[in-house]
Amino acid sequence: MIVRRGVSRPSIVDCPLLNVEYNMRTAHRTHTFTESVIREMTRVANQHGAINLAQGFPDFAAPELLKEAAVEAIRADINQYAITWGTPRLRNALAEKYRRFYSMEVDTEREIVVTCGATEAMASAMLALVDPGEEIIIYEPFYENYGPDSILCGAKPVFVPTRADGGPDLDATAVAFSERTRGIIINTPNNPTGHVFARDELETIARLCIEHDAIAFTDEIYEHILYEGEHVPMAALDGMRERTVTVSGASKTFSITGWRIGTIVAPPTLTDAIKKTHDFLTVGAPAPLQEAVAAGIEGLDASYYSELADDYRRRRDVMYDGLSAAGFSCRPPAGSYYILADFSSLSDLPDDEFAVWLAREHGVASVPGSSFYSDPADGRTQVRFAFCKSLGTLERAAERLAGLGARGRSGGAT
Ligand code: PLP
Repeated sequence: MIVRRGVSRPSIVDCPLLNVEYNMRTAHRTHTFTESVIREMTRVANQHGAINLAQGFPDFAAPELLKEAAVEAIRADINQYAITWGTPRLRNALAEKYRRFYSMEVDTEREIVVTCGATEAMASAMLALVDPGEEIIIYEPFYENYGPDSILCGAKPVFVPTRADGGPDLDATAVAFSERTRGIIINTPNNPTGHVFARDELETIARLCIEHDAIAFTDEIYEHILYEGEHVPMAALDGMRERTVTVSGASKTFSITGWRIGTIVAPPTLTDAIKKTHDFLTVGAPAPLQEAVAAGIEGLDASYYSELADDYRRRRDVMYDGLSAAGFSCRPPAGSYYILADFSSLSDLPDDEFAVWLAREHGVASVPGSSFYSDPADGRTQVRFAFCKSLGTLERAAERLAGLGARGRSGGAT
């Protein structure tokens, strides 16, 4: 047996090739990470043949224009590393997009970093800008990556509750800010609550950021999936351009979560550091797919974006009506493509058991609510449904849930 020194809690595994036991140590920073609950629920969905409303990926086609452009780029042998912070064509298209939608002027050379998805964008930005021991404010319920992102850079997450309607608790936000605060993460439109941050909510948070010299990390990946209100980028507010890292990407807007194209817009002082972490982590995003996303931004007009939102509104209504009829308590989201639903009138089971029961007995997979909270007890009566699926899939899901009210309580409690 090979034993390394300094290993406090060895995990012993068999290595069949060498026929010895290795004592494999893993980094402390990973010890608090749990397996993704969302991917685990996908496994449960497959096991029971359930409709997978757990994971947030569309089951419908991407726009033809993007697919053609990707094929064309590969045929044209755009195969090698792109400039690490993004191809000139995509950066130009992004600057045009920010001008067109938000009247923001963005320097294509110094203020944009193209990343491997919004996921890498957020991790690269935080690694570049947050020092160990500094605090990051996170609203809960939250998208599951923000906790691990904070841990990766040694920061301390400070969780702040949201109101019953999904909006931020602004008094609690003011209390959470301190001299240790390095930044706040704002996700609008929000996963999982569907809240779209109102201008006055963002203005209050902006004032706190300025007062405490903190950075706003805004995750705006659902910026075009909006049913009510307007999408206000934090960076467009007075005094915030120089302290905001705006994260977005192509995954949701163009239904291409597997292409891995994300974007960062931030002032040059911040992007100078972000470019380095991004470069060392990934070198760059896929070159031919950057061309295709640029073609999409250049070539799709306003009607594409309004149809995207209209199509999602129809899906939202089918999902919301189906959940309400089945006995869940929930609100129709104002943006994004999730519904966080309370099932306490249907079952006494805790959320994780209820989600597995629902997949097994009713053939619909969801995500246990506890995975969106720092204290799992806060999500014990909730599950999240993703409605980024074709209308037919959602109608089938609604049919499967229809019998739940009648059977649910006794079925769920056994
Ligand atoms: N941010 C939020 C809030 C999300 O919900 C998701 C995916 O579900 C992501 C980021 C991931 O985006 P990407 O596919 O660009 O990494």
